[in-house]
Amino acid sequence: MDAVSEGRLAQVNPTLAQKIRQVADQMASSGVQLRIVQGLRTKAEQDALYAQGRTTPGKVVTNAKGGQSMHNYGLAVDMVPGIRGASPWQPNWNDKDPDYQKMIDLCEQQGLVAGARWVHIPDVDHFQLGGIPVTPTPAMLACLVAGGCTAVWQQFITQPPASDAPVTATARTTNPADKTTSSS
Ligand SMILES: [Zn+2]
Repeated sequence: MDAVSEGRLAQVNPTLAQKIRQVADQMASSGVQLRIVQGLRTKAEQDALYAQGRTTPGKVVTNAKGGQSMHNYGLAVDMVPGIRGASPWQPNWNDKDPDYQKMIDLCEQQGLVAGARWVHIPDVDHFQLGGIPVTPTPAMLACLVAGGCTAVWQQFITQPPASDAPVTATARTTNPADKTTSSS
């Protein structure tokens, strides 16, 4: 993906980033470049966004407070396809376009949850990791506040087995997450 997108992917969960790159590669092979328009949005940034139109100037743009969006956990991205043949790259915001639908289909094949499917307020460019609750739980928020995104990933996300870095006994005992994990 382009440098802007890769910079954003570097801040989100590696499993999510890997799935997004696979979708991007598949789309690129059919002539469409995807771009990440939003990756990690910190809890503080989310709080500021929530305040907009409520206690600060501007119009309301979100109903999610800090900790209520998967973006706050590095577990979601917003992504848009480029207009076919456009140079320089231009975003294709038409979610009825076959290229847009193809992007959504490929993401779902990767097991990602597509905001386009949300019933009440579809969020067509939003994709988040599956296999976890669709909205962050209080336990996830507590973990985020205590240890940041990485702590949430360690405790709530099943990571694929590392192929070239076996976990040693030393590494396990020095991992602070092990001491607080009770059921996962
Ligand atoms: Zn989003």
